Amino acid sequence: MPRRCTVCDHPEKHSIDEALVGDAPYRGVAKRFGLSESAVYRHKTEHLPAHLLKAKEVEEMAHADDLLEQVRNLQAHALNILERAEKAGDLRTALAAISQGRGNLELLGKLAGELDERPVVNLNVSPQWLELRAVIVGALEPHPAAHRAVLRALESVGNG
Ligand SMILES: [Zn+2]
Repeated sequence: MPRRCTVCDHPEKHSIDEALVGDAPYRGVAKRFGLSESAVYRHKTEHLPAHLLKAKEVEEMAHADDLLEQVRNLQAHALNILERAEKAGDLRTALAAISQGRGNLELLGKLAGELDERPVVNLNVSPQWLELRAVIVGALEPHPAAHRAVLRALESVGNG
């Protein structure tokens, strides 16, 4: 039967880990938290690396989530501006919003790639792009020159 680790089971495990990461001598840590030196030593050498790795992953995941959220906000703004510009017949602003939206989608795609293990993100990218594309192309239909220009630009961008 595997021995339980008194450090892993300790209610102040997080503080203990922090102390150990800060290179506090394990003897001192053991004394401070009422643990045996051997338990602290074993925990430091056998368990701590895995904990740190996991903490780092969680941190990076949270960071990527933040970025994703920010890009989504930007994209919502860009779509909003596009809609207003279309209604006002302001093609220059509409094109700027389209360009901004395209940049956002590229960023979203990259972030989605980094978060590959979460398929929900991947599913969101393509429909958003298709929706934006349809909105753009539809809105510009009354303006043949702009319509052609945008279609050309979209083709040159392609799907990659
Ligand atoms: Zn442990």
